[in-house]
Amino acid sequence: MSGQMQAMVCPGPARALVMEQRPIPQPGPGQVQVRVLACAVCRTDLHVQDNELADIPYPVVPGHQVVGAVSARGSGVDMPLEQRVGIAWLAWACGECDYCTTGQENLCDHALFNGYQRDGGYAEFMVADADFVIPLSADLDPARTTPLLCGGLIGYRALRMAGDARRLGIYGFGSAAHMIAQVAQREGREVYAFTSPGDKAAQAFARELGAAWAGGSDEPAPEPLDGALIFAPVGALVPKALRDVRKGGRVVCGGIHMSDIPAFPYADLWGERQIRSVANLTRRDGREFMALAAAHPIDTQITRYSLAQANEALDALREGRINGTAVLDMTT
Ligand SMILES: [Zn+2]
Ligand SMILES: [Zn+2]
Repeated sequence: MSGQMQAMVCPGPARALVMEQRPIPQPGPGQVQVRVLACAVCRTDLHVQDNELADIPYPVVPGHQVVGAVSARGSGVDMPLEQRVGIAWLAWACGECDYCTTGQENLCDHALFNGYQRDGGYAEFMVADADFVIPLSADLDPARTTPLLCGGLIGYRALRMAGDARRLGIYGFGSAAHMIAQVAQREGREVYAFTSPGDKAAQAFARELGAAWAGGSDEPAPEPLDGALIFAPVGALVPKALRDVRKGGRVVCGGIHMSDIPAFPYADLWGERQIRSVANLTRRDGREFMALAAAHPIDTQITRYSLAQANEALDALREGRINGTAVLDMTT
């Protein structure tokens, strides 16, 4: 496909996105051009807009949770045209460093990310390395599948890091939480959902999804938890979650960006409690999780916007006005 396309571009720090006409990007060797069907809106897109990631190469097209169809191929790519694919955060890793060769390509120092160092899915077309796209079944609804490709995947990696915790605290009940709560409960875990204090709507949402308990993050856990996942970008939740977990419990931080963690007494960490972060994701995470989602569908709650409404979607997310995930649906 050649010609012109529409893209929503972030021109610089703290600027609203602007609609631009651009040439449709052409795939290089080993790449595919993808016609974007839908792209979800992530908190990380706000960090791109707000210049909260290192060395953002403005102007940039955000978007890293893309479902699309292959519309052109570079040399050396044998993926069929019209193949339905998912595109996630990891755009490329070097394949040669100590991380890449030991199954930790998510930590590669040379890695590149979509919608940050490469133009992403807030556009009618994008290009991606064929080895880094995830083939998807054409049966999956594009818009409803997009949230799985970031929040769902990060949630999945975080859940795996929580080990076999049966009573699981989830702090920040937004996009990632609502998906991974379903997976956790299917695995026989009990979910304890912590929302912003007083956010009754989010608490009701969590209970609808089957949470054993839902309350404000200012409330203590009703019983000791075996593990905790933190999805809200609030550093103060780390010592809070440490106080909620039992001895040996793990607190897993799923956000790419978090406010400072306040000082806390060593006693709260004592008892072999652990804190760890989840950084990015590997292609293996993507394949595993999307296979799991195909076998046992995950119900995603979405609010649809058109591509031209990307600023409204970002503002709604920034102001916490969205339950579930905002999705730019190119078919509307
Ligand atoms: Zn994301
Ligand atoms: Zn590497």
